[in-house]
Amino acid sequence: MALLKNGYISLSELKNEKGYPSEERFNEGPVAVIECIQEIPCNPCVEACDFGAIEIEGPITDKPKIIEDKCIGCGKCIAKCPGLAIFVVDKTHSESFASVSFPYEFLPLPDKGMEVEAVNREGKVVCQGEVIRVINNKEFDRTPVVTIKIPEDKFDVVRGIKRRKEK
Ligand code: SF4
Ligand code: SF4
Repeated sequence: MALLKNGYISLSELKNEKGYPSEERFNEGPVAVIECIQEIPCNPCVEACDFGAIEIEGPITDKPKIIEDKCIGCGKCIAKCPGLAIFVVDKTHSESFASVSFPYEFLPLPDKGMEVEAVNREGKVVCQGEVIRVINNKEFDRTPVVTIKIPEDKFDVVRGIKRRKEK
């Protein structure tokens, strides 16, 4: 498995995981993408979802499953995951852009409207993005969730942004 070799999982491996939505679901609008691939005793994601869209079917060490028809893409589960393993992807953001929401636990936070360097799962810059939302409130347990707009074809590649330098 690429996780053991490289420290991150490959996209083809992720697509076989039960937390990864189908191509059809991506085409329907915002949906949670659960990139939790280690069998650990953890389940705040299940409790976080008001719509019953995340299930752990067996013992607590089983990996979570996205019930894609129930997910509305609200993003609440992103902030509740201690493993920073959940994203919300909207492939339908606009004609040629997608959006990706992710937890961002660094300071300074980016500002809405800022141009940023978007990174893949390895932390490598893959394209430019624009910050379209920053949520940092009580409901999200003060775990900031940042949403960026990126070229549509990068929807399953981009999973964060390059950290801003302190001034
Ligand atoms: S994005 Fe919202 S609806 Fe979807 S799984 Fe997460 S908490 Fe549930
Ligand atoms: S909360 Fe995060 S780390 Fe824990 S089981 Fe859910 S997705 Fe995995």
